[in-house]
Amino acid sequence: MNKKGELNKKKIAKLVRQLLAELGENPDREGLIGTPDRIANMYEEIFGGYKMDAELDVTFSEETDVIVARDIQFYSMCEHHMLPFFGKIHVAYVPSGKVFGVSKLVRLVEKHSRRLQIQERLTKEVADELMRQGVKGAMVIAEGEHLCMKMRGVRNDSSIMTIAYRGAMAQKDLREHVLAMIKDPKSNLRSV
Ligand SMILES: [Zn+2]
Repeated sequence: MNKKGELNKKKIAKLVRQLLAELGENPDREGLIGTPDRIANMYEEIFGGYKMDAELDVTFSEETDVIVARDIQFYSMCEHHMLPFFGKIHVAYVPSGKVFGVSKLVRLVEKHSRRLQIQERLTKEVADELMRQGVKGAMVIAEGEHLCMKMRGVRNDSSIMTIAYRGAMAQKDLREHVLAMIKDPKSNLRSV
């Protein structure tokens, strides 16, 4: 990768070709001939978070107490095994006069998920980045399935939940309201 975060796809394709040979495959057989290039192109997409910027444009300004964006789908790659982990992230924050559009929150999640990651750090980084944007409090909950747990090792089929909360979300009442909201979107948060 260069300083701008761009991948050297030629080099990646070459390395994948070497890996295929090392696995005992013939990299020149019909089914594999395009695989190194396909993987290099795919890596540009699934590791695209490294070059995404952090700016969360403010789309509108409104007085509200808590904002919850539920069920943001994420896909990431575990840094221990380079296998996918994926699932949903719920992002809640207490705004301080400015509100972010959902697409910006999705982008924020992508910035931190499209790279080699662990779920605990992904959860923290999204919360920390919201705090840096000047919100009063943030809570991020991630539920992920990890292929490195499912297809290897102990073959555990459970999903992992991680939670990070910051600032005003230190208040237990507020966290409980948000958790109720995530479980049942019809619950009334405006009473917080
Ligand atoms: Zn792993």
